[in-house]
Amino acid sequence: PQYVFDFTEGHRDDKDLLGGKGANLAEMTRLGLPVPPGFTISTEACRYYLNTGREPDTMAGEVGANLARLQEKIGKRLGDPEDPLLVSVRSGAKFSMPGMMETVLNVGLTDISVIGLAARSGDERFAWDSYRRLVQMYGKTVLGIDGGHFDERIEARKKARKVDADVDLDVSDMKRLVDEFKDIVLDESGRPFPQDPRQQLDLAVCAVFESWNTERAKLYRRQERIPDDLGTAVNVCAMVFGNLGPDSGTGVAFTRDPATGAQGVYGDYLPNAQGEDVVAGIRNTLSLADLERIDKASYDELLRIMETLERHYLDLCDIEFTIERGKLWMLQTRVGKRTPAAAFRVAAQLVDEGLIDDDEALRRVRGEQLAQLMFPQFDPAAPREVIAAGMAASPGAAVGKAAFDSATAIAWAEAGEDVILVRRETNPDDLGGMVAARGVLTSRGGKTSHAAVVARGMGRTCVVGVEALRVDPRAKAFTTSDGTKVTEGDVISIDGGTGEVFLGEVPVVPSAVVGALQGNDEPVGDRQEVVDAVLRLMRHADARRRLGVLANADTADDARRARSLGAQGIGLCRTEHMFLGPRRKVVERLILARGDDQRAAALDELRPLQRRDFAEILEAMDGLPVTIRLLDPPLHEFLPDLTDLSVRVAVAEATGSPDQDAADLLAEVQRLHEQNPMLGMRGVRLGLMIPELFELQVRAIAEAAVDLKTQGRDPRPEIMVPLVAAVQELESVRDMAEATIGEVVHDAGVELSVPIGTMIELPRAAMTAKQIAEAADFFSFGTNDLTQTTWGFSRDDVEAAFFPKYLERGVFGVSPFESIDAEGVGRLVSIAAWEGKEARPDLKVGICGEHGGDPDSVHFFESIQLDYVSCSPFRIPVARLEAGRARV
Ligand code: ADP
Ligand code: MG
Ligand code: MG
Repeated sequence: PQYVFDFTEGHRDDKDLLGGKGANLAEMTRLGLPVPPGFTISTEACRYYLNTGREPDTMAGEVGANLARLQEKIGKRLGDPEDPLLVSVRSGAKFSMPGMMETVLNVGLTDISVIGLAARSGDERFAWDSYRRLVQMYGKTVLGIDGGHFDERIEARKKARKVDADVDLDVSDMKRLVDEFKDIVLDESGRPFPQDPRQQLDLAVCAVFESWNTERAKLYRRQERIPDDLGTAVNVCAMVFGNLGPDSGTGVAFTRDPATGAQGVYGDYLPNAQGEDVVAGIRNTLSLADLERIDKASYDELLRIMETLERHYLDLCDIEFTIERGKLWMLQTRVGKRTPAAAFRVAAQLVDEGLIDDDEALRRVRGEQLAQLMFPQFDPAAPREVIAAGMAASPGAAVGKAAFDSATAIAWAEAGEDVILVRRETNPDDLGGMVAARGVLTSRGGKTSHAAVVARGMGRTCVVGVEALRVDPRAKAFTTSDGTKVTEGDVISIDGGTGEVFLGEVPVVPSAVVGALQGNDEPVGDRQEVVDAVLRLMRHADARRRLGVLANADTADDARRARSLGAQGIGLCRTEHMFLGPRRKVVERLILARGDDQRAAALDELRPLQRRDFAEILEAMDGLPVTIRLLDPPLHEFLPDLTDLSVRVAVAEATGSPDQDAADLLAEVQRLHEQNPMLGMRGVRLGLMIPELFELQVRAIAEAAVDLKTQGRDPRPEIMVPLVAAVQELESVRDMAEATIGEVVHDAGVELSVPIGTMIELPRAAMTAKQIAEAADFFSFGTNDLTQTTWGFSRDDVEAAFFPKYLERGVFGVSPFESIDAEGVGRLVSIAAWEGKEARPDLKVGICGEHGGDPDSVHFFESIQLDYVSCSPFRIPVARLEAGRARV
């Protein structure tokens, strides 16, 4: 195969072979934009190298041929002593990837060619500055030498010269630095800096190949679920020089503002500098407006090119450019990253500008971005002081007093304080503190660290891996790299959407997007364009989607909120909370009743309460389905705590006043005690053991519905039986329910049909879906429990215990509780849905469980043609958007 491709040979769609950077360099070349000539060594060559430990036999020859062509085009030879061609060697994988080797500039400079370069350019300082950059970058990236060694020498030089900036060092300083840097290379790597230009090039290429497998790159790929076997391409590009004096410079630009999405170009420019200086923040950059003043011609051309790129890529592009003595060169472009607000705004703008259609706009935004916009946010207008930044691990805006251990966090939270728990990293001992805190901040770990996984699971705001923080748990303080010190009790703010950490309290404002989604049309100032864009894309998503979107809501308040956010009913109304609190005692009496009288008394007490519960919810969802799940939790949740009770009985006995009632109760509780309650007496099993419980619920549902009907309302209850494993279980409940509903309806003389269906949350239920469908009007997959029962682990126990390790080892790329495990759990869902519908074509099939609000899961449920997803009220808009996206 061909391993090396000239920039004129590639195409933007060749990312697999040429990497993202290479494909786009080729595309710009094809468009006739001013790209310095060069060539790309393919990912295939890299894969060959990584598999065999050596380059493909034909590669050196191809590199030679391409280099020869490049030399001819430019009219210079690589490293020529008189007039050297210099090149950059740049990594570039299909997906951009931190942790891989970056770029080496000025390859081809040697002790001899630097003199030629000085003579030709007429700028000796420039030539030696370029050389010292080469030795420095080569040492760092190719030879892996700690960059600190080089930085120290530069600092020492500046100090000796009593100057502040690199640009103030003169040619003699640069010469001296080159000597010092070469010594560092020799000392640290044991070999002198290579003086053969082609050898410099070849070694740099191999270093790029090998950087594919650095630990950081591997970790990043596991986290982002990027396959390990793609390899990286290497781009070799003729150098252009931004450091040739004040009429030269380098910059980055965006075709629109990637932070706000505002129209109009945006960028930074640094005169008399080479590429990496802009990012490194060595000097303060100028704006593009400044460039317009400095060099109008280059500025105008840059604008023309940006326009060309936007019209070509039909999207916001980011750009790297360099100006060499008044001549503009393009060094990179790609479709630019952007904030969630900008994503929506830009997508809507592009439709208005006639560049893309509504379907394409929908493809350009993601549910996760919408979710970000729905969190309360730090007031954009408020002043703030960023003291550090890390990885955004779990969204939200949290403000609180810094606490450095779990106990303090818990104590303060109980006293009504807002707390941010600050740790180097968290472990299962920190769980209590994480629950108590508003937010969690760690200095170590990545997106799959314990802190990140657990915080996401609990919905806590979380920022991890803030390397600039030095956390000292003993001193109960942290310091940042700029010297800011925060001690226990100081207020800090953290942004789980951006990863930023602020000193003091930054005011939090409610999300304008949530208000607008709920139909509130008050003006929202500078958020207006974002809000309009969201509403518009939501309308299109609703028009496109096939999946229904329902809510998991247990109270009338939740039901109203869900409805205002677009829920088409309730897919899961849990009833357990209706039996806890003060009512728990009554349930206890029901369970422990001796004789019918006691039982009847307890039931009489509960029935009116239940009826009111259901009436409120049915009223809030008038005209829409409300799927009510009969009581699900294990028995023991309604009984006194075994340990407490044992102590009470023992104490009573020891003090010589035995309590017979308590002793009897204890005996009963012991009898009912379960080793493994989650797999014990719960769900339909409980309903069959204590039939009065389910009967009570069904009667209350029917009565509430009948009442509302008589008042002219349109209640649509559906009854759902939990934890069914066998059709016989469902049939028993169904017989009871139909009889009960029949009685109520008959007495009231109104018409009411109540569908009766089942949760599918046990593998056996999924595998016998055909039979179960005969007795069910609908299936609702309880994917939380189905995940637990399919994997055989309990969420509460495993998430903190070993998920971080599993994620790190790549057992799964994302927690199966966050995103449906399509191959395992998802396969069960798909088989059961299919076979259920085969047995009964009008069977309604949906899912309830947190997966209903997870974007990837929604796409999966669309692909297996479920009828609806049901999720928590706050995720409804996300599910609507993704259900639409799954169809375009
Ligand atoms: P990254 O992916 O880290 O941006 P790049 O390969 O784009 O790495 O290069 C790093 C810096 O060097 C960028 O600012 C880029 O514009 C600059 N650069 C790369 N190649 C050249 C070149 N041939 N001439 C001048 N500057 C270059
Ligand atoms: Mg770049
Ligand atoms: Mg369940």
